[in-house]
Amino acid sequence: MSASVDLHMHSTASDGVLEPAELVRKVAEAGIGLFALTDHDTTAGVSSAAAAARALGLKFLAGVEISVSWGSQTVHVVGLDLDTGCSGLQQGLAELQAYRIGRAEEIDRRLAVQGIQGALVAAREYAGSDLVGRTHFARFLVEQGHAPDMKKVFRRFLTRGKPGYVPGKWAELGQALGWIHAAGGVAVLAHPARYSLNRNRMRRLLGEFAEAGGEALEVVSNSHSRDEIHVMDRLAEEFGLEGSVGSDFHDPAIPWAQLGREMILPGRVPPVWQRWML
Ligand code: AMP
Ligand code: MN
Ligand code: MN
Ligand code: MN
Repeated sequence: MSASVDLHMHSTASDGVLEPAELVRKVAEAGIGLFALTDHDTTAGVSSAAAAARALGLKFLAGVEISVSWGSQTVHVVGLDLDTGCSGLQQGLAELQAYRIGRAEEIDRRLAVQGIQGALVAAREYAGSDLVGRTHFARFLVEQGHAPDMKKVFRRFLTRGKPGYVPGKWAELGQALGWIHAAGGVAVLAHPARYSLNRNRMRRLLGEFAEAGGEALEVVSNSHSRDEIHVMDRLAEEFGLEGSVGSDFHDPAIPWAQLGREMILPGRVPPVWQRWML
């Protein structure tokens, strides 16, 4: 059953490359029966994805991936099964969308200092909206030959300490959980092994997340190794969290994060999607 569930993916509403309806067709082809669209800081793609899912007979959850600042660290919290009409949620997301505009301008200024002109105009074109993210800058920088591929462009320009990096000032953890719960949703801490936190800091984060009412941990992600999956399964159990699985799909051209890979929870914690399988 878990092989046909994927609760984390992106469309053109944020930094994915497929339109929501195209994405849903790929989801169906991949044999996924229950899925969520979780764009960064927006639910703009949800209504077209929901319509496409209905037409294909797939179970669909309205979702979002909220950018959170936890101390100096950026972490991501996925919200699942949201009422996208909730004004508390949408006001919160609107703040993050507004912050993204100013941050993109600052990234553009920092790249200009490096002699790279026109990045913001190009990034906006890649984004197709004001919801500009680092991925859109990355595509421009690769296209212009400043780096050979997406991994290297992040490493050279867009990660902490690099010329095009702007320290994030996103939502607080408690705020993000508040918006998700106000919208009737379920909160999942996304790709925990990606944050390069040491054991103590990881346990502090999980403790605060669980204390604030977070429901689940994304134990299985395409960015987790086998070992990391088992570590996260044990941590989820220790902190009383359910388990989630997500590809974090963005782009058919990125081989390590495709749809339809087998994603199975190791089994110490109950699947977060039990509640939607009734
Ligand atoms: P943002 O929310 O605008 O700061 O962008 C974060 C997004 O950038 C993530 O969701 C990924 O899609 C992408 N990203 C971050 N780090 C990397 C990396 N090292 N390689 C490729 N993509 C990355
Ligand atoms: Mn992304
Ligand atoms: Mn993420
Ligand atoms: Mn994601």
